[in-house]
Amino acid sequence: MTLLRNYVGGEWLEAGGADTLDDIDPASGEVAALVPLSGRQQVQEAVRAARGAQPGWREVPPQRRARALLALRERLLARREELVALVTADMGKTLADADGEVGRGIESVESAAAIPHLLKGEVLEGVAAGVDVELVRQPVGVVAAITPFNFPAMIPLWFLPYAIACGNSFVLKPSEQDPRPAVLIAEIVHGIEEIPPGVVNLVHGGREAVTAILEDPGIDAVSFVGRAETARIVAQGAAASGKRVQALGGAKNSLVVMPDADLSQAVPAIMGSAFGAAGQRCLAGSVCVAVGDPARQAAVRDALVRAAAALKVGPGSDRATDICPMVSAAARERIAEAIASAERDGAELLLDGRGNAGAAGTLLGPTIAVAEPESELAREELFGPLLSMVEAPDLDAALDFLNGSRYGNAGAIFTRSGEAARRYRYGAEAGMLGVNIGVPAPVAWFPFAGWKDSCDGDLHANGTDAVDFYTRKKVITSRWLEGS
Ligand code: NAD
Repeated sequence: MTLLRNYVGGEWLEAGGADTLDDIDPASGEVAALVPLSGRQQVQEAVRAARGAQPGWREVPPQRRARALLALRERLLARREELVALVTADMGKTLADADGEVGRGIESVESAAAIPHLLKGEVLEGVAAGVDVELVRQPVGVVAAITPFNFPAMIPLWFLPYAIACGNSFVLKPSEQDPRPAVLIAEIVHGIEEIPPGVVNLVHGGREAVTAILEDPGIDAVSFVGRAETARIVAQGAAASGKRVQALGGAKNSLVVMPDADLSQAVPAIMGSAFGAAGQRCLAGSVCVAVGDPARQAAVRDALVRAAAALKVGPGSDRATDICPMVSAAARERIAEAIASAERDGAELLLDGRGNAGAAGTLLGPTIAVAEPESELAREELFGPLLSMVEAPDLDAALDFLNGSRYGNAGAIFTRSGEAARRYRYGAEAGMLGVNIGVPAPVAWFPFAGWKDSCDGDLHANGTDAVDFYTRKKVITSRWLEGS
C-alpha cells in the first residue's frame, strides 16, 4: 500500500508519526493509498522551504517564470492521459469529465504564462514639476492553497500557476479524499528544472493541517475552495492572523427554463449540469425553475424525467457511463438521507435513484423531486445527482426565487428571447451566468467565483483577479529636477 509523501523543498518526505486516512477508489471501494494527516510540524517544514526559496524566485525575470509555466504546460500535455485516469480513479468522475477538468487546468497554466503582460504597472508623468508616479506589483510572499475533492487536478492548477508566475512560492494542501492527482502534478513540477526546489510544496492533511496553515505567520495569503461553512472558517482564521484570503464556497444554482425555451437543446444541457460528476460540481444546476403556465411546467418536468431515466449509472472508467459514483459511501448516504427526509416532509419524488448503491456503496441514480421553494431541497447545497423542481409563473417570480438564495455562485437561463436573457443577466445575483449554457464555467482568462455565501473575499480565482490577489501594489512618487 502506497503511503503518500509530502513534497517539501524539492524532496519527498514522510510525514513522520502522522495518522493516515484511506484514499479510496469510489468505483471499487478499494483502498488505493494512505494519506498522511500532517500537523503543524509538517506545515512548518513546508513553509520554511517556501520562505527560503521565495527571494531567489522573485529575482527570476517574469519572462523566465513564464517559460517555466510553458514547460509545465508541455509536461502536463505529455502526461494528460495519466492524469485523467488518476482523476477518475481517485475522485470517481467519468473519463470524459476528467479530461475536461485537466484541459481546464492546462488552460489556467496557459493564461498565467502571460504574466509579463499581466504584471506591468502604471505610470503617470508630471503630477507636479519634475514629479512622476509609478505603480509596481510585487509578490505577496508565501501563499497556500487549500483545495476540495471535486476537482482534484483543476483547482490546484487554478492557483499554482498564477501564484508562482507572480514570484511567490506556494504550499498546496489538497483534499485528503483524493490527493493523488495533486501528487502527480507535484511530480511533474519536480521534473522541471526552471522551477527551483521550495517554490512549489505539497502537504497532505485535513483540518489540523488547515489550522496550522491559517495560524502560520510564514504564510502571507490563502486561497481556498470548498463548502461555504469551511470557507467561512478559513476566511475568519486567515483574517485573524492578518493574511490575505480568497475563500470560494458552496452553491445552489438554479436553471431557469422559460416558456419559449427549445427543450431539445435545454434538456440535454440540464442533464449535464444536474447529473454530470454525480452533481458534485460547484456549477451544478441543482434546481430547475420551470417558468410558465401549469401545462408548460408539466411538459418541462416530463421531458426532464424521461431524459434522466435514460442516463446510465456506473464506474467513471466505463465510456458508456453518464452518472459516476459519488466520492464516498458516506457522501452517498448523506444524499440518500436528504431524499428520505424530503419525502417524509411531503416532497413528491418524480424519479428515485436510490435503488442500487453498487459494491462500493457509492452509486446513486438520478433523482428528481418537486420542491417547495423554501425547503431544504430547494435551498441547501446537497451535492449529489438530485434535481429539485420549482415552479414560477413568470421571470420576475423566478428571479425572486433564485435571488432569495444565500448562495450566488452560478445559474443559467434557457430561452429564445433576447429580452428575457437580458433581464436575467441584469437581475440575477450570481457571479457566473449562462444563457442557453448549462455549465457556465468561465475560461481561465476570466475570473472564476460567485457572490454572497459562495465567496468570502473580494478577488476571484484566475484572470486578472488572480494577479491582484497574488501581488501587492507599491506606488513610488519621484522627483528628478533638472540638474539634480
Ligand atoms: P470541504 O469544505 O469539505 O473541504 C475543502 C478543504 O477544506 C479540504 O482540503 C479539507 O481538508 C478542508 N476542510 C474541510 N473541513 C474543514 C474544517 N472544518 N476546518 C478546516 N479545514 C477543513 O469541501 P469538499 O467537500 O472537499 O468540496 C466540495 C465543496 O466545494 C462544495 O461545497 C462545492 O460547491 C465547493 N466548491 C466550490 C467551488 C467554487 O468555485 N465556489 C468550486 C469547487 C467546489
